[in-house]
Amino acid sequence: MEKELKGRVALVTGGSRGIGRGISLKLAELGAIVIVNYSSREDAAQEVVREIESHGGQAWFLGFNVNDSSAVDSAMKKILEQEKKLDILINNAGISIDSLAMRMSDEDWGRVLEVNLTGAFYCARAAMKYMMKARSGKIINISSVVGRMGNAGQSAYAASKAGIIGMTKSLAKELAGRGITVNAVAPGYITTDMTSSLALEYKERLLGAIPLGRFGEVEDLVSVIAFLAGSGANYITGQVIGVDGGMYM
Ligand code: NAP
Repeated sequence: MEKELKGRVALVTGGSRGIGRGISLKLAELGAIVIVNYSSREDAAQEVVREIESHGGQAWFLGFNVNDSSAVDSAMKKILEQEKKLDILINNAGISIDSLAMRMSDEDWGRVLEVNLTGAFYCARAAMKYMMKARSGKIINISSVVGRMGNAGQSAYAASKAGIIGMTKSLAKELAGRGITVNAVAPGYITTDMTSSLALEYKERLLGAIPLGRFGEVEDLVSVIAFLAGSGANYITGQVIGVDGGMYM
């Protein structure tokens, strides 16, 4: 049987670690040619590419900061030169800098919004220029349960992830006529580097708020993203799919 994403070209921002790594591996397993983006750790991106290739898949890595608009445009140019197309964009790159609002610096507030929200916008804008001409494409933005519920100590992160939801719906309306779908996935607490530093006491409290009674694994998430990237989701756009163990209903 032919693989679901055979011949599709996918860019995964922050594809080198955590959730992005899982997404890269999954899309490649389904036959996509994956461009694994990173910002600082080339070794991690290289490792993901090696892993994909060792399973017979196709991938290459490309370092750029999603929040640098000219770097994003150059990266897109390079992808189009090399692959001649881009079918799938996964806006996954993200950071969290947590602090109670009264102590948060201008710099930290700006940095979180810049990477998580502005970065996703720059990548979507660069991708849509090609996708609109091709009259097809799938853009999947990674939001967060925190963007839907809020969380004390995470006002910047929550604002960036709520912003992702507003942007997703607006772009979905703007691009539907061109055959491009835009959806968001809102993960709950997934075990990655980003969540590994949470205090034990906080983790225990969190568990009490998750009806399914456990933290999520990257594998819980990637099958949903693979579904949204495939033809089975052609009639779905502007949606936010929670993968959070029931935290937000
Ligand atoms: P992670 O393990 O910290 O990995 C973050 C990835 O983003 C890395 O590949 C990193 O590359 C890349 N990155 C960071 N800043 C970047 C920039 N300016 N330009 C390009 N790439 C950049 O994070 P994660 O837990 O996998 O999270 C992935 C996404 O899911 C984020 O958007 C996060 O907000 C969201 N999310 C995570 C959870 C969770 O529980 N883990 C829950 C909800 C939502 P380098 O290593 O090279 O810097």
